[in-house]
Amino acid sequence: MEKRTTCNRDCPDSCGIVVTVEHGKAVRHVGDPAHGVTRGFLCSQGRDYLQRQYHPERVLYPQRRTQTGWERLSWDEALELAADKLRKCKAEAGPLSVLAVTYSGFQGHVQKTLAKLFWAHFGGATSTAGGLSVEPIHAAQHRDFGKACTHAPEDLVHSRAFVVWGKNLAVTRQHWIPFMDQARKNGARTLVIDPIPSATARRAERHFAIRPGSDRMLAIGIARLLLERDAIDAGFVSQHTQGFDTWRAIVMAHTLDQVSTATDLPLSAIEEIAEVYATAKPVSTLIGLGTCYWTHGGETVRFIDALAAVTGNLGVPGGGVSTDISSGLSGEVNVPASLKRTVRMPVLGSDILATRDPALAMGWVAGANPVAAAPDSHRVREGLKSLEFLVVVDQFMTATAEQASLFLPCTTYLEADDVVTSYGHHWVGLTRKVVEPWGEAKSDAEIYQGLANRLGFGDALDGSAESWTRKLLGTQVAYGALLRGSVRLPGAQDVPFADFRFGTPSGKFEFVGACTSVEQVDGLHLVATKSRRMINSQALPEDLPEEPEARVHPSVLAACGMVDGQRAMVVSPVGKVQALLRADDTLRGDVVVMNPARWKGDLIGVNQLREAKVTDLGCGAAMHETRVQLKRIERVQESL
Ligand code: SF4
Repeated sequence: MEKRTTCNRDCPDSCGIVVTVEHGKAVRHVGDPAHGVTRGFLCSQGRDYLQRQYHPERVLYPQRRTQTGWERLSWDEALELAADKLRKCKAEAGPLSVLAVTYSGFQGHVQKTLAKLFWAHFGGATSTAGGLSVEPIHAAQHRDFGKACTHAPEDLVHSRAFVVWGKNLAVTRQHWIPFMDQARKNGARTLVIDPIPSATARRAERHFAIRPGSDRMLAIGIARLLLERDAIDAGFVSQHTQGFDTWRAIVMAHTLDQVSTATDLPLSAIEEIAEVYATAKPVSTLIGLGTCYWTHGGETVRFIDALAAVTGNLGVPGGGVSTDISSGLSGEVNVPASLKRTVRMPVLGSDILATRDPALAMGWVAGANPVAAAPDSHRVREGLKSLEFLVVVDQFMTATAEQASLFLPCTTYLEADDVVTSYGHHWVGLTRKVVEPWGEAKSDAEIYQGLANRLGFGDALDGSAESWTRKLLGTQVAYGALLRGSVRLPGAQDVPFADFRFGTPSGKFEFVGACTSVEQVDGLHLVATKSRRMINSQALPEDLPEEPEARVHPSVLAACGMVDGQRAMVVSPVGKVQALLRADDTLRGDVVVMNPARWKGDLIGVNQLREAKVTDLGCGAAMHETRVQLKRIERVQESL
């Protein structure tokens, strides 16, 4: 029997999926050809999802940590234990002594809504502020535009040129590629700005291997050329922008020689990019985490946004500065007021340890794996270990779950009903319980409901996933229509700001008005690229590399007196990781490229090396600020 569902993993594509079920087991899992963005195609992790669904390492029962290992509990025992700890914390130090960490591990609105309701009815909790992803981009674009300026993927076909800036679309946004390819068939050019020759850079017609962290200076250099050549859309600037003169003064205070030195790009390369902005109307600028993972990341994004504004590439089909779409559901759920306090996600470990009045006594982590995914893993682990009791809700024994006092197994998107919108397109779909939960897994929603019943506010969370979905959909989309497959949200706009009315206080595009100086730090830039076989830290165990690799330009090896295939210690200010060195002459000489973070047994994860630093806007993680050194291992293991 064929059933439809929607991928709810932390991915902008939120694919529609058709599952074949035989004898109660999912046996085939393919892209839904009727979904307007999925178009029958899944990424490689999606294609292999049934391996994850039925993986032997999946944890299927509630478990409590004991002196000697893990002890299986019934759900009654597990929920009673968790409820007891919550009652005790609240009675002794108030609800803020509980830390609730939820991040982007699942995209279901019902699960997210019931989490919010649960903590509100509990009386509050200490939650997290900021994040590990696009938060600085959102904050920057909120200042410039009033909200995100991401065009629908369907609109990309209208672009005459793509400037892909710090984004590896071929890995992280695969369902945008067919729309871009359609534009390319019509003559659109693709320029990629990225220190690394990513998969996207390799398929582009031009790649500019910029010095890491110098994107803001490049945007300033491009702007200077546009100003000097009078390639400015004067009508748009005068009618629809604010702060042009201040921005112009900042730009003109930088010489092109300074820009060329800072970016490590010849003037001809900067001119080539400026020429595209000046002549190829409309230009679509697609920005990624590479632009914002810096302490000055928010400001960088604002200077890039300005290029689209001065060239009249806002509010027009095929233009925009795109990253994530913010599409939600219109139905309203009343969340009562409660006590609130936050710790910052990018510096989670330190903030947990520093929190007082009340200190944090208990933690609840769901839809997140901060030990693997947040910078300075050791500190995060230390912070979580300092809690008296930690509950982790997950499908696998992740690096964070390894620190838990109580593990609660949760369902996959094949085992529970929910509703999912996307941050990469405007389609909405249901996740459906197409098979019974494996083992004793429960959805996060059911877990919150079970706990709420024990804590005396069960009525507030009561109801089936379908009834919550209907409530969240409001009048926007009929539930019955979604039962037949995903639908595009009615009224969703392909082109933001088509009326040139922005959501800023002035109603206009607002230019960045400062360029904060940045301290130059010596050393090799640590770059951890995303992988086609991983979604952030999620991967199948068999896809994890046996040991970390560190790829560097041969000149780096020569300068250190090391050779390809040798093992060395990669050392940062906060950690060290032993890695196999690989020479790669396609890389710049100032980077070390390593595998992404691992989700479990995180003894070799790259986030052990990353320093926990906060971005200028959005409380994001300045993941790329860390510099490393390569050091010899005294006793080299010559096993190759
Ligand atoms: S991970 Fe992303 S691209 Fe892959 S199947 Fe899920 S939504 Fe689609």
